[in-house]
Amino acid sequence: MQRIHSSDLKNYLNKKVLVSGWIQDIRILSNIIFLVIKDREGFIQIFLPKNKVKEELFNLCKNLTKESVIQVIGIVLKSKQAKLGFEIIPESIQVLSLANTPTPIDTSGKINSDLSVRLDHRFLDLRNPKRIAIFKIRSKTALLVSEFFDSNGFININTPKITTTGVESGAELFEVNYFGRKAFLAQSPQIYKQMMVAAGLEKVYEIGAVFRAEKSHTTRHLTEFTGIDFEQAFIESEQDIMDTNENLMKFIIKGLNKQCKEQLELILGHTLIEPKKIPRITMKEAKEMLAKKGKRLPEKEDFDPEAEKMLGEIIKKEFDSDFVFVYLYPWEKRPFYHMLPENDKSVTKSFDLLWNGLEIATGAQREHRYEILKEQAKRKGIDLDQMKDYANIFKYGCPPHGGTGLGLDRIIEAMLCLDNIREGILLPRDPLRLNP
Ligand code: ATP
Ligand code: MG
Repeated sequence: MQRIHSSDLKNYLNKKVLVSGWIQDIRILSNIIFLVIKDREGFIQIFLPKNKVKEELFNLCKNLTKESVIQVIGIVLKSKQAKLGFEIIPESIQVLSLANTPTPIDTSGKINSDLSVRLDHRFLDLRNPKRIAIFKIRSKTALLVSEFFDSNGFININTPKITTTGVESGAELFEVNYFGRKAFLAQSPQIYKQMMVAAGLEKVYEIGAVFRAEKSHTTRHLTEFTGIDFEQAFIESEQDIMDTNENLMKFIIKGLNKQCKEQLELILGHTLIEPKKIPRITMKEAKEMLAKKGKRLPEKEDFDPEAEKMLGEIIKKEFDSDFVFVYLYPWEKRPFYHMLPENDKSVTKSFDLLWNGLEIATGAQREHRYEILKEQAKRKGIDLDQMKDYANIFKYGCPPHGGTGLGLDRIIEAMLCLDNIREGILLPRDPLRLNP
């Protein structure tokens, strides 16, 4: 017999079915037993009236424990008490795996455990349908990202995660012993995506692991996360890159509202708000807005988390938007390869994208002219020619280009208003956590 899921019960009224799952609840009364089992899609009520089922089944149920895995064959009937409106009267019950009791955490979600205890027992923590919903949404989000880039002519690339140094500062690198040589885990695919643009692929994207050896104990930082990176050639300015990000966000939200309506409603109580036009403000304008609300930031400083959150609220109020692009970031806060505008060398043609007051992306037009790039590197105290693999990219024909690094984990955190980035990743890695 083919197994069906809880969500299919409605199509099998008065028919014999095979279902299986984890026992969520057992209620034993003198003449009846109720079992609730859960599968990936929801719950199924199993009803055993003593006078209608075999005695051996009745006795078997008395020894079952919560979270045991069972398989049930029986007839689907309409039920007023059952949550879904159906119940199954069993003909046979098979115990596939008997669970130890008690479980280390409450899987029903009725008793709260600390996040850290939950993460120690993540596979049990995920038995809760609300938690599974997060990962169904995450799975679809990644798929929609690929669909978006693919349908817009981007080529999917996979770049090395074991490297020598990248083009970032180098302070956030995990060292690896590579057969006696010093290597590092990639903290971004920056060098490679620019390389592939110059190679002539023109538009590329990658969804892959990014490693940051930063000892940040925050609700928004991990030491290993999933980066969504893209790079595109023949742009006119960073505005084109913002366009791509904006279209990507609209595409994801539209797709999720269609494909994950149920899960979004379970977590948020509603579907996502589709942005009309994402406002674009300069860093200077953003700081003026913040100053008016009493939050003063020095000219050359980046936002702190509080400022990001405040800005999110201001934008929501003034533009009715959950998103905002902040562009023209100060030169001091950006890497040497971001392009500078012709008329102002104190800022860069770069931007951040914030969703619900949280940075989810940083992007920029890159400097593609070797001599200017070399000069910019020098201003930061870097000798470009020491970075041979990178410098070469610009010597043999490199078109104007730009790109963005987004964090999938941050996107899920912002989208679902999670209070911690760790809620949206199966098995987080942070400075203290290396298990399970
Ligand atoms: P932050 O300022 O929040 O520390 P960043 O500006 O250092 O982040 P970028 O180098 O701009 O990070 O990385 C691009 C994107 O990758 C970020 O916008 C964010 O979505 C994500 N990201 C960066 N660092 C982390 C991290 N430690 N954990 C999870 N996601 C991250
Ligand atoms: Mg950033």
